[in-house]
Amino acid sequence: MPNIQSVIEVLYHKYRSCSEGHVASYIPELAKANPDDFAIVVVTVEGEVFKVGQTEVAFSLQSTSKPFTYGLILEEFGREFVLTKVGVEPTGEAFNSIVELEKQTHLPYNPMINSGAIAVSSLIKAPNFSERVKRVMTLFENYIGHPLVGDEAIFQSEKNTAHRNRSIAHLLRHFNVIEDDIDESLDLYFKQCSILANTQDLAMMAATLANNGIQPHTQKTAIKSEYVSDLLSLMFTCGMYDSSGEWAYSVGIPAKSGVSGAILGVVPGIMGIAVFSPPIDSKGHSVRGVKVFQELSKNLNLSIFKGKKS
Ligand code: GLN
Repeated sequence: MPNIQSVIEVLYHKYRSCSEGHVASYIPELAKANPDDFAIVVVTVEGEVFKVGQTEVAFSLQSTSKPFTYGLILEEFGREFVLTKVGVEPTGEAFNSIVELEKQTHLPYNPMINSGAIAVSSLIKAPNFSERVKRVMTLFENYIGHPLVGDEAIFQSEKNTAHRNRSIAHLLRHFNVIEDDIDESLDLYFKQCSILANTQDLAMMAATLANNGIQPHTQKTAIKSEYVSDLLSLMFTCGMYDSSGEWAYSVGIPAKSGVSGAILGVVPGIMGIAVFSPPIDSKGHSVRGVKVFQELSKNLNLSIFKGKKS
C-alpha cells in the first residue's frame, strides 16, 4: 500500500483552497462553523494513526452517529424485531424526507435517514431521560475510547427548529412505529446528533467497525462482530442517502455523512477514514470530504469491488 501519510497530505493541500459548498444553516448553531477547517485522518485496524489538518477541531456528530445507535438496538432486540420497526432499503430521497412513510408498510425505509434514526432513538430505553442519554454517550465512548461531551447550544438550536423532524416523529407515532412519547425520543435523537468529536475520534469509530467491532486502541468490544455487517451494508446502500449509488460507483466503501461536514468510511479489515470540512453540498455531504474520499479510494485501491488489498 502506498505511503498513507503522504497521500493524505497531498489531498489536503490539493483541496484546502476549494471554496464549493455552504456551511449548514438550517440548524442555526451549525452556521458558526469555520468553512476553512479541514482534516483527514486514517486509522488502521492495527491502531496506527495518519493525520493532517485541523484534526483537533471538535464538531457535532450529526448523522454520522446513525449507524452506531442502530447497532445498539440490534444488539439489544435482535434483527427480527428491529426489522418490524425500520427497514433496510434505500429511499433515493433526501435524508429528511417524509414521503416514504406514507407508502406501503409505513415503516422508515432504513436507519440512515432521519425517520429511521428517530425510530431507533425511541427504542433506546432506560428508567429516565438522563439514563437514556448516558447509554448513548457510553456507546460512542466505547467506539472512541475516551469520555465525550455534548454541545448544549447545538442541541437547543436543533430542538428549537426541528419542525420537519417533529412531523416525521408524529407520523411515526401515528403508525405506531414509535409507541410512546415522541418528545423524549426526539430529544434523545438531538442529543446523539450534538455529541462532540474530532476527526481522529470519527476515524477511530470507523476503524472499530473495520476491526470487526473491536476498538483498535483499547481492544474493547464496541459492537458484537455478528452485527458489524448489518451496519456496513446499510452504510453502503443508504449512508449517503440519494447519492449512495454514485458513492458506491466512485468510492466503493461503506460510509456515512453528517451535515456538520463529517464523513466516515470503513474499509473492512483494513482501516477507518474520516474527513471533516464544514461546507456541504445540496445532499448534505462535505464537498471536500467527497472529493478526498473519491481520490483516496483510487490512490489506495480501497473500493470493495477491487479485489484483494495489499
Ligand atoms: N441532526 C440532523 C437532522 O436531523 C442530522 C442530519 C444529517 O446530518 N444529515 O437534520
